[in-house]
Amino acid sequence: MESRIKEKQRYGFHMSISNGLLEAVNDTAAMGCTSMQIFSRNPRSWKKKRFKKELLIEFRNKLKKNDISPLVIHSIYLINACSDDLEIYRKSRQLLLEEARNTERLNGDFLVLHPGSCKIKQKGIKRLASALDIASSILSGNKKILIENVAGGGHQIGKNFEEMKMILDKVKNPDKIGFCIDTCHLFAYGFNLRIRMNVMSMFSEINETIGLDKINLIHLNDSKFDLSLKRDQHEHLGDGFIGFQGLKNFLNSGFVKGIPIIMETPKDNPDSDKKNLQTLLSILNGA
Ligand SMILES: [Zn+2]
Repeated sequence: MESRIKEKQRYGFHMSISNGLLEAVNDTAAMGCTSMQIFSRNPRSWKKKRFKKELLIEFRNKLKKNDISPLVIHSIYLINACSDDLEIYRKSRQLLLEEARNTERLNGDFLVLHPGSCKIKQKGIKRLASALDIASSILSGNKKILIENVAGGGHQIGKNFEEMKMILDKVKNPDKIGFCIDTCHLFAYGFNLRIRMNVMSMFSEINETIGLDKINLIHLNDSKFDLSLKRDQHEHLGDGFIGFQGLKNFLNSGFVKGIPIIMETPKDNPDSDKKNLQTLLSILNGA
C-alpha cells in the first residue's frame, strides 16, 4: 500500500545542510522520502555560501540516484521584495536574484519566497513583481519561483488568494511563477481547516483566483497557535490546533492530490521526522 502511494505522492522534509548537502540527501533517502527542501545559505545572514563544483555535481547525482524530486530551495528570511523602503527593496531584489542563481547551481526545481510586507499594497506588489521578473528570468527549464502564503501578521502581503492573484497579474512571465500553500499559515490567517466545508470553499476560492493548477507545492505543518491569531509557529502533525482531522480535511479534499508535500515540522527530538512522516502516511493511506 505504502509503495503504491509513494509513486503518486512525493513528500519530504525541510532538511538542515549544516552537516553538508550530501548528508541531507542521505537522511532524506533513509527515511524513504522522495522530496526535500533546503536553505541555500544561512537564512538569517547576509553572508553568501559557496559550494565547490565537484560537490554540486555529486549532490545532483545523489538526488537523481535516490529519485528525490522536486528539490525545493527556501529563500532566506531577510528578503522583503515589496518593502516601502527603497534601500531594503533594492537589497532584497539583489538577494532574490542570488537565490535564483543558487537554485540554478543546486538544480532546484522550486525557489520558495515569502512575499514580504509593506504599508502601500499596490506599490509593494509592483515592486515585488519587478523583483520576481528579474530573478525568474534566469531560471532554466521548468524551474519556478513559488510564492508562499503567510500568516498575515503586521503588513504582510500574500495572506489570502486575492493578494496572490494581484501578484500573479503583475508579473511579466506568469509561467515562471507558482504558489506554495502552507497549512499552518492558512490556519493562522483564518482558514479553518478543521471544518471540511471551509476547506472546500477555500479551494473554490483558489480556483477562482490563482487557479488550482498554480499550486506547485504544499507545506504541511500543524499550528502551535489557534485560528486567526496570525501567529506563525509550526507544530508536529496532529499535535497542534489544526489537528489530525484538519490536516485530513485538507489532504483528502481531492484538490491537492499529487502535489509534492514538504513538512517543516519541529525537530525537537531525533525521532520527530519519523513520527511526522508516519502521521502523513496514515492520512495518505486513508486512516
Ligand atoms: Zn512554509
